[in-house]
Amino acid sequence: MASNTAESAGRDPTGLSIAIIGAGMGGLGCALALAKKGFTDVQVYETASNLGFVGAGIQMAPNLVRILTRLDCWDAIAADSTEVHDASIRDGASNSELTHVDMSTIRQTYGYPHCTGHRASLAGGLYQGCQKEPAIAFHFGHSLVSVDSFGPRPTFTVESRDTGRRQVTVDVLVAADGVKSVTRSQLLSQLGLTAAAEPTGQAAYRIMLPRDKMEADPDMMALLDSNQVTRWIGERRHWIAYPIHGRQIYNMSSCQPDVNFAPTLSATYTTKGSKSAMLGVYDDFCPLLKKMLDLVPDGEVCEWRLHVHKPLPTWVHGGVALLGDACHPTLPHLNQGAAMAIEDGAVLAEVLARVPLAASSSDSSPEQQVSAINRALQVYEELRKERTSTLVDLAAFSGRTLHLGEGKAKEERDRQFAEARNNGGTVPDKWASPDVQKMIYTHDCMQIAAASFQALYDKASPRL
Ligand SMILES: Cc1cc2nc3c(=O)[nH]c(=O)nc-3n(C[C@H](O)[C@H](O)[C@H](O)COP(=O)(O)OP(=O)(O)OC[C@H]3O[C@@H](n4cnc5c(N)ncnc54)[C@H](O)[C@@H]3O)c2cc1C
Repeated sequence: MASNTAESAGRDPTGLSIAIIGAGMGGLGCALALAKKGFTDVQVYETASNLGFVGAGIQMAPNLVRILTRLDCWDAIAADSTEVHDASIRDGASNSELTHVDMSTIRQTYGYPHCTGHRASLAGGLYQGCQKEPAIAFHFGHSLVSVDSFGPRPTFTVESRDTGRRQVTVDVLVAADGVKSVTRSQLLSQLGLTAAAEPTGQAAYRIMLPRDKMEADPDMMALLDSNQVTRWIGERRHWIAYPIHGRQIYNMSSCQPDVNFAPTLSATYTTKGSKSAMLGVYDDFCPLLKKMLDLVPDGEVCEWRLHVHKPLPTWVHGGVALLGDACHPTLPHLNQGAAMAIEDGAVLAEVLARVPLAASSSDSSPEQQVSAINRALQVYEELRKERTSTLVDLAAFSGRTLHLGEGKAKEERDRQFAEARNNGGTVPDKWASPDVQKMIYTHDCMQIAAASFQALYDKASPRL
């Protein structure tokens, strides 16, 4: 359904042509949000030949579930998800609980649940939503190779294995091409800057234990049949784990110094990890954790090298905007990377639906349209930059706190964990801290975009 929110007598911006690079979480969310706003021409270009998501779990917090509900795709995703009622933060070596956070009232407090699920369910739910929208066309097996012009109308070259290269010109180009974004490099180089995603010195193992492998062990089954996210922490390392896929799978992911990563990098910074190296890294962790790690067959350990990027001076140039990991990659400790990417997409749709265009294309000079689009994209950046910087910084801060070694700082952290258990106060593991949850979950990015668009648009001057 089209929501004609364009300026009073102006031409409806939903006829603008929009290309999205990347059918990851952010690209899919953005395409669906645009179609729900009534945009009629949304073309998604994705390098992969299908939605090939690394098998792994994902936490979906209420701020994300709010958007998925509004995009009418949450029910399908919810069917395969598990609602989180507890967070248990434990000492990795002893398995003793440092703190416990009751999350059973999250749905009631924030109107939406906090859930765990399979990445494939989240991506699949978004994709199915997109497939119901005639406005959205997918071009799998198509890579953006260059942005040839950022304006007045963005022009870029895509390459397909089957049909070769071709140039495409659109009104708006959204780069949701992930942490290794080609568009970001080209945008920065246009501005005379060079910068690349940087390794954080940390890597993550990701493993998934099927229910039948855990069945013989009551302690493991208690974890699998719970509504709990459990984190085991130690010096410079941790594991976080939770049930997914209707409790048929226990999903575990870690973070540790990046020393065992295979020398050959895949395009996605993932590689097959060595099981014996993984067991070695966690050799001093508790027997329960080690028993679980030992269930993984050789060859099924996946390792990700974790990257971030220095804050960008801008996310927008001409008619091009960056979105998601392309402009604010994050460490995973706050479980908000995909949520932020999908929030970006939802905000971009709100903003583009309000681009004030002149009454008819004949009245509207190309300059008027290009300038209005650029100002609207700046509003998107303005609405998103502070929020995402705050969450990226908080994720990094939380990681440093979780990974403390022996000493005064760790003693103070553990005192805070103990105090939080007793009085429900702030928790050093920030994703589980009620004050941080309140800040993240109450942020209704779509409503804020709708309410503040006009004032921010009026302040923006075109940068072309
Ligand atoms: C260990 C770990 C755990 C995490 N846990 C959580 C969690 O619990 N909750 C959460 O919200 N987030 C989590 N995240 C973060 C989340 O996965 C990412 O932030 C999110 O996927 C970013 O989405 P995106 O769309 O920006 O990028 P991506 O999902 O990476 O998508 C980018 C897409 O662009 C495509 N692409 C790239 N280049 C091109 C090109 N040139 N042409 C065409 N297509 C291209 C890629 O193939 C890919 O499909 C976690 C991340 C890690 C590493």
